Amino acid sequence: MTQETLALHHGYDKRAFGTMSVPIYQTTAYDFETAEHAANLFALKELGPIYTRLNNPTTDILEARIAALENGEAAIATASGQAAIFCAIANLAAVGDTIIVAKKVYGGSTTLLTHTLKRFGIKAKVFESDHADDLEALIDENTKAIFFEALSNPQIAIPNIEKIVAIAQKYNIISVCDNTVATPILFQPLNHGVDVSVHSASKYICGQGSALGGLVVEAKGLNAKLIGNPRYPHFNEPDESYHGLVYAQLPFPIFSLRIRLSLIRDIGATISPYNSWLLIQGLETLSLRIKEHSRNAYKVASFLKSHPKVKHVSYPALESDALHGRAKQYFKDGMTSGLLSFEVEGLEFAKHILNTTKLFSVVVNIGDSKSIITHPASTTHQQLSRDELERSGIKEGMIRLSVGLENADDLIEDLKVALG
Ligand SMILES: *Cc1c(COP(=O)(O)O)cnc(C)c1O
Repeated sequence: MTQETLALHHGYDKRAFGTMSVPIYQTTAYDFETAEHAANLFALKELGPIYTRLNNPTTDILEARIAALENGEAAIATASGQAAIFCAIANLAAVGDTIIVAKKVYGGSTTLLTHTLKRFGIKAKVFESDHADDLEALIDENTKAIFFEALSNPQIAIPNIEKIVAIAQKYNIISVCDNTVATPILFQPLNHGVDVSVHSASKYICGQGSALGGLVVEAKGLNAKLIGNPRYPHFNEPDESYHGLVYAQLPFPIFSLRIRLSLIRDIGATISPYNSWLLIQGLETLSLRIKEHSRNAYKVASFLKSHPKVKHVSYPALESDALHGRAKQYFKDGMTSGLLSFEVEGLEFAKHILNTTKLFSVVVNIGDSKSIITHPASTTHQQLSRDELERSGIKEGMIRLSVGLENADDLIEDLKVALG
């Protein structure tokens, strides 16, 4: 079945209540009816709702739909994109381990993966994702994950995905791709050999900036890569926190199950059923919206490209963009979402533009139906040192746009006035 149809119907059996809209199971707990049924659920003899911190029937549908849209085996939803990234990595690495992170990623991912995780004993090495020529040399026996973004926020870069995947496969290391910006409509990482995709569903999947949520999707057949793999002993040895359970012996997709049973259970970064419902609404129109965002952004990028005060535009869908070849190679019809960045001369002029536009809101979010303008160096990436800024490719005069669903002509007029 195609993605458009899956997004509307997959995972929900209307016959239960006959409701066209997926019901919101706004509940904390579930009636097990019998002691035996309760015991079976806790012993994983059957899977089913136990307590909403672990699972919820509304969230189940969101998880089934994203898994189908990504052509994955299974998925787990989390309270936010950050929680999804944390869970994906913490499911692979522990104290003493190393992860390898792309240079060009979301600011929050840089702080989480290179600073916060270090406090828990997980060290990050950074690789140059544009070409990935330095990646292989960074690998050793403690390397547990390779993390990158399919379309990076805010640099709008597309890494050498083929090479990253080939290296991850060669060393039997799990690759994790943040697919937030591309969405499964424009790019399906798992179809390209990536093992796990993660999302901030708060962005395009939600579509209207109304709910936070995160998703982790595991590839079909990922069990085979984890079972017996010496890099991942915790999937193959008894889990003390779950009465000696050995994940490798279970007949379920074990990557997401272990996140559910040993991370979300303990950390409690659970999505609320209401937010799951909002994200289900978002998924229904994702395919239409992301294409329209892309068409609008293409028009805005073309305008900026021709403006004398604009030094540089990053938008891989543009024929003149250095990454256009990769956009065509990986992304549906070469479309690269509503995200673009451009550079003007200096901090002050960049701020002037932010303060002058009327249709673009000064907001640190992306993927809203309303257009957004952001100055990464002074906001999302403010916590980064000058060195880190340089390394993540953030310039002082760089402005990021998340082009919304307004008419592109109105957006162009607004930018024309601001650029002066
Ligand atoms: C926003 C974002 C995140 C973090 O997601 P939250 O839902 O805000 O926690 C992670 N990765 C990317 C690429 C993002 O844009």
